[in-house]
Amino acid sequence: MNSHQSANDQWAQCPEGQFSQLAKSLRRQTQRRRFLTISATAAAGSLAGIGLWSLVQTGKLGPFPGAGSVPSYDYGGITCEAVKQNMGQYISLQCAPEMIARIDAHIEQCLSCRHLIDLAKRQQEIKA
Ligand SMILES: [Zn+2]
Repeated sequence: MNSHQSANDQWAQCPEGQFSQLAKSLRRQTQRRRFLTISATAAAGSLAGIGLWSLVQTGKLGPFPGAGSVPSYDYGGITCEAVKQNMGQYISLQCAPEMIARIDAHIEQCLSCRHLIDLAKRQQEIKA
């Protein structure tokens, strides 16, 4: 019993106001830290955004697989659009040899065009 009482006495001895002052300074510290964390995260986020944006702009980022509409990508000196336009002639081997070489180079790197040509070839085989 005695030990309990002395512990309570020690608590009471704590000067009034000291604890609230300590709490105030602690709160100020955490607020400052939170602000720093937020600004650091925002800076990192915008940096990552700029990096991704410049990758897209320079075309280093390939076509997104599974994207609904595939934008024109320039592989093998020919765009996807041009590949699609010449696809029929390419499959029936009616295109100029240099066009065939270009399309071959293109579909080596462009998955979506390779897929389209594979499908078209298979349809041609079924028809023939
Ligand atoms: Zn393509």
